[in-house]
Amino acid sequence: MIDLETPEYLEKVRTAMNSLAGSMLRPIARKYDEAEHTYPAELDAFRGIQVMGRKKKKPVEGEPAKPKSDKPAAGQNLGTVVTVEEMCWGDCGLMLSIPNAGLGNAAIAAVATDEQLERFGSKWAAMAITEAGSGSDAGSITATADLDGNEWVLNGEKIFVTCADRCEAVVVWATVDKSAGKAGIKSFVVEKGTPGFTLDHLEHKLGIRASDTGTFVLANCRIPKDNILGSAEVKKSTEGFKGVMKTFDNTRPMVAAMAVGVARASLDLLKEKLEAAGAKLDHAAAPNNLPAREKDYYMMEATLDAMRLLTWRAAWMADNGEFNNTEASMAKAKAGRSGTLITQKVADLLGPLGFSRAELAEKWMRDSKILDIFEGTGQIQHLIVARNVLKLSSKELK
Ligand SMILES: Cc1cc2nc3c(=O)[nH]c(=O)nc-3n(C[C@H](O)[C@H](O)[C@H](O)COP(=O)(O)OP(=O)(O)OC[C@H]3O[C@@H](n4cnc5c(N)ncnc54)[C@H](O)[C@@H]3O)c2cc1C
Repeated sequence: MIDLETPEYLEKVRTAMNSLAGSMLRPIARKYDEAEHTYPAELDAFRGIQVMGRKKKKPVEGEPAKPKSDKPAAGQNLGTVVTVEEMCWGDCGLMLSIPNAGLGNAAIAAVATDEQLERFGSKWAAMAITEAGSGSDAGSITATADLDGNEWVLNGEKIFVTCADRCEAVVVWATVDKSAGKAGIKSFVVEKGTPGFTLDHLEHKLGIRASDTGTFVLANCRIPKDNILGSAEVKKSTEGFKGVMKTFDNTRPMVAAMAVGVARASLDLLKEKLEAAGAKLDHAAAPNNLPAREKDYYMMEATLDAMRLLTWRAAWMADNGEFNNTEASMAKAKAGRSGTLITQKVADLLGPLGFSRAELAEKWMRDSKILDIFEGTGQIQHLIVARNVLKLSSKELK
């Protein structure tokens, strides 16, 4: 069934988040673009607001189970992508700096046991997968975790970790058995302050400068045995690794939503300036009579709709328990790439204003680039879609 009506509750979420983003993020966007690495203290007001991922409530013993509805669900994932779009319309770098909304939080929420949730659920958690020699091919990471009595001993280096300075814990990917390849890769929660776990440096970046990104060194870093997320068992198959990769099926639509938010902010500004310059935007006008800049505007508006619809489909599928690996990658590929094209074109059409710091257009152009890189580059998303469509394995299509 296709129903393109937005449920009433989602409209309420959108309106509330838009007002929050417009009043709390947009006004300080330039300030923290310029004050790179400074924690935006204004974001403390968001503590306690859940932006990314929440563990499903377990049924309480004795409480009757809710009857299963046969209507399709518009649930948490759809609510999250709507929230994320609005927040990133406000400011993407600031959205990524909201306390307790790290990617590590999404991973913990997805797989932690009740006991782990109790210990780590309230901590701001980053996610550390990438290494100097391993980015797109996450299966080739070299950081190690060796069991020694009741502790794991971690060694390695993790680069480009978002929220590196501000987070309280990091979900670190490491291998427990190099000879097992992907099957040996597990994730571990390492709390800040653990001896042997050091933040080496922070990056100076092109965009999302309000968000801190850093490198961690793990040197004989000992963590409790039960800080491993999921099972420690190394199975012959790569099922465990595939399970970890499934987190991306939930988080890629969120990154796509970030791209929609930034591109929309950019288009809104263009519309405002076009109208101020006397353009009367009229969707009913014949395309062959339109001034070029208005035609460009409509093309970008249509692209923005396509980005959003792909994103919503992927999130909706996740809410309904449908396997959305292809659709999550389609959304991320389309939104990541088109977001960079829209923000560049807007800067272009604004003329000198698009290059000036008097407006945020140049910043949005810089910010949007990362959304086509992290959580898997555009090329990698195309590869995933191609593998799924052609029914080829990662060994058969590299
Ligand atoms: C600001 C920022 C924040 C980040 N935050 C995090 C974080 O919180 N946690 C984390 O773990 N990582 C993070 N990353 C890392 C990010 O996820 C990686 O940069 C990304 O996955 C790409 O990996 P790479 O940089 O090693 O590029 P590479 O894998 O070396 O790729 C380089 C280029 O080659 C292309 N390429 C690679 N393989 C193929 C292929 N098979 N076919 C076609 N093209 C290919 C890529 O698309 C890319 O264009 C962050 C990065 C940045 C810049």
